[in-house]
Amino acid sequence: MKFKGLEAITSGNILKLHEDQEITHLLTDSRKLLTVPGAIFFAINGKFHDGHAFLESTYSKGVRNFVVNKSKKLSLDQFPEANILAVEDSLKAMQQIVAFHRQQFHLPVIGITGSNGKTIVKEWLTQILAERYKVLKSPKSYNSQLGVPLSVWKLEPDHEMAVFEAGISQVGEMKFLHSIIQPTHGIFTNIGPAHAEGFESIQQKIEEKLILFKDCQQIICCKDHYEVYKALVTHFPKDKLLTWSTKEIADVSILHQKKKGDYLCLEMSFKGETFYMEFPFTDEASVENGMNIVTLLLSFGFSFTEIQSGLRKLKSVSMRLEVKQGVNNCMLIDDSYNNDLAGLEIALNLLDQQKQNPKKTLILSDLYEAGLSNSQLYEKVASLIKSKGINRLIGIGPIISSQQKNFLTQESQFYPSTSLFLKEFDQNTFKRENILIKGARVFNLERVVHQLQQKMHRTSLEINLDALTHNLNVYRSRLQPETKIMVMVKAFAYGGGSNEIGHLLQFHRVDYLAVAYVDEGIALRENGVKLPIMVMNPTPESFEKLLDFNLEPEIYSLSLLNTFVDFLRRNDRESGIHLKLETGMHRLGLETFEVEEAIDILRVNSSIKVKSVFSHLAGADEAIHNDFSLKQVQIFKEGVQKIESGLGYPVIKHILNSAGIIRFPEYQFDMVRLGIGLYGIEVNGKAQNELRQANTLKTIISQIKKVSAGNTIGYSRKGIAEGERILATIAIGYADGFDRRFSNGKAQVLVNGKFAPTIGNVCMDMTMIDITGISAKEGDEVILFGEENPLMALTQTSNTFPYEVLTSISERVKRIYYTE
Ligand SMILES: *Cc1c(COP(=O)(O)O)cnc(C)c1O
Repeated sequence: MKFKGLEAITSGNILKLHEDQEITHLLTDSRKLLTVPGAIFFAINGKFHDGHAFLESTYSKGVRNFVVNKSKKLSLDQFPEANILAVEDSLKAMQQIVAFHRQQFHLPVIGITGSNGKTIVKEWLTQILAERYKVLKSPKSYNSQLGVPLSVWKLEPDHEMAVFEAGISQVGEMKFLHSIIQPTHGIFTNIGPAHAEGFESIQQKIEEKLILFKDCQQIICCKDHYEVYKALVTHFPKDKLLTWSTKEIADVSILHQKKKGDYLCLEMSFKGETFYMEFPFTDEASVENGMNIVTLLLSFGFSFTEIQSGLRKLKSVSMRLEVKQGVNNCMLIDDSYNNDLAGLEIALNLLDQQKQNPKKTLILSDLYEAGLSNSQLYEKVASLIKSKGINRLIGIGPIISSQQKNFLTQESQFYPSTSLFLKEFDQNTFKRENILIKGARVFNLERVVHQLQQKMHRTSLEINLDALTHNLNVYRSRLQPETKIMVMVKAFAYGGGSNEIGHLLQFHRVDYLAVAYVDEGIALRENGVKLPIMVMNPTPESFEKLLDFNLEPEIYSLSLLNTFVDFLRRNDRESGIHLKLETGMHRLGLETFEVEEAIDILRVNSSIKVKSVFSHLAGADEAIHNDFSLKQVQIFKEGVQKIESGLGYPVIKHILNSAGIIRFPEYQFDMVRLGIGLYGIEVNGKAQNELRQANTLKTIISQIKKVSAGNTIGYSRKGIAEGERILATIAIGYADGFDRRFSNGKAQVLVNGKFAPTIGNVCMDMTMIDITGISAKEGDEVILFGEENPLMALTQTSNTFPYEVLTSISERVKRIYYTE
């Protein structure tokens, strides 16, 4: 497809054509550019960012093809060598272009939709189909209005089959995904309440999803999801449906199932034949995913034995990317699940986002990519690596080793196998670098991860970076478009780790960060965070460092103001400051009667610029304090007015914390300060169900024992076995931050999906829990809090406080970051 041809496909106008070229790569995110010939940037006007703001920077990085919205005024002279197409809506134009691309191919395309399981079904199905065909699949969970076109664009003539997932969040969206995917076969996984906000009813949600299957020859579904099945038979002729069921007669009926250790044996019938399948998992969700796959494969004519051998190789895979602490101050990104081009690009973007260390190393196995010859494939890999600024490449595998000639621009070493690499492995050749380990499963690169990972305590705090992004967006969606956002990353970002979270926030372009102490600000700067940073408790001894690291102090008293002014004068320096007003919290802040004097000082000192004026609500989380909060707002407004007119220039005004954003949306002023809400904790309880819990605290069972009735458990003999009990000792105690108030049943923790109460007092490094009736073994994982057992519930039963629990998690607890 040539640039010129896009005009007809999108009904747009070419504003400028410098040199027509073949379009090869679609770009939508100015932070993840791949500047290769043929790359085209779509300036999308999104909910949080307008892509048009990044046209210049994208152009300066070498991109030459652009699609923009007609309504935007551009000065074309700024882009002398560009091709520019103007359309009604850039996102829709991208979808039209990909829909056109899709029409060029005639092959079976499987479209998957439903509430849960889409990604797993897609991944597993692809694994089995790939034994027979060259299959393209969407990377990760790319199933949105943006993700789907990016996935389908990768279709190449050599592909024999494709599997894409489609997800929607409101009415009207599926018709676009349908036109891009154009599936010939469909799978409807199930329906659940997820994302119900965009729909009036579950029926409406189902009907919208069905649009994906409009032109399918065959649709797979489970009859036991009655509402889904009912809608399908209403809209499609019966011979297009292929159903399965555990309860009634279906095309594939499950007659009998039996658990055998970690396996589930199923007896089924299909077209009058009875057969057996063994699933390498037993949980309900996996079995459902497995059945959708079995049914689809049967419709494609796979034999029972072929399906069984495919199923046997499936594992309950973790598809997430993990960021881990490595040896010698290295940072590791572990992605040893699969290896194809799209996945490589996503992982390289995450590596790019975490800028702790300047040096970037990639450890990469052979890739599996259908549809390209080895030399084509590795040329693409080489150009990707180069554009992402990788300094060192370690290639593992016979094929990548044979393609060395493509990798001459960076330091590189090659090994035919993982074992040979490990034989020569020397930990000391990895220092202060960010390392991405990316490989196909057969290479077992987890052995490399194991060597490079810092060995620590077995208790960990896992931080879901996608949940943080989701929560940030939930709060953003409640703000006026022009309202700025400051994120409070004090106290090690509420225990989550300021560097990693700081980088994530920088990536998502928040406006400000705030920390409590200068040292915290310096740590962020030393790790490459460039956002403006406010320091809430600056001390005179730290002023010099504060300025050296480009941090901005909060000034909360006349005496601090005078000392700071003095310091600036003596050292001939300048600074921006943030004035804190006392409005009722009675912690830090200028009293109302001090404001005049502050203005007088500021007016004669041009070395200081007031960046913002703010205050803090004492009771934003409780309705009983509403009147008091409004009084605070009033005092704040009056103070700010005086300051702005006294100074003669406008300042950024802000008063709301997380709870305030939800409770008092009308008082956003120019900025808000987001804190605990980022982690998915909504202390009002009003918007809790929109947020995702981002932090999971985990440990393991060290020992299991049986105690007979009447025995006591732990210090001071506080725990008493009422009858014969099975106890587990877990590897976490109050020194890790597992509060002593969680003792004696005040906390319930999760063991293999079941709740187990604490018994006896929490000890320094260990805690005993009662697991009577729960099947568990030593070494099993225990979740202290997480998505299934939220921190808010835990703090309510134990009378603790979520802020305190989060910030008390000790440094010896390993932090693990991941994306889904
Ligand atoms: C910590 C803090 C916040 C954030 O509070 P949350 O309740 O966590 O949202 C906001 N403003 C100030 C001044 C703070 O110290």
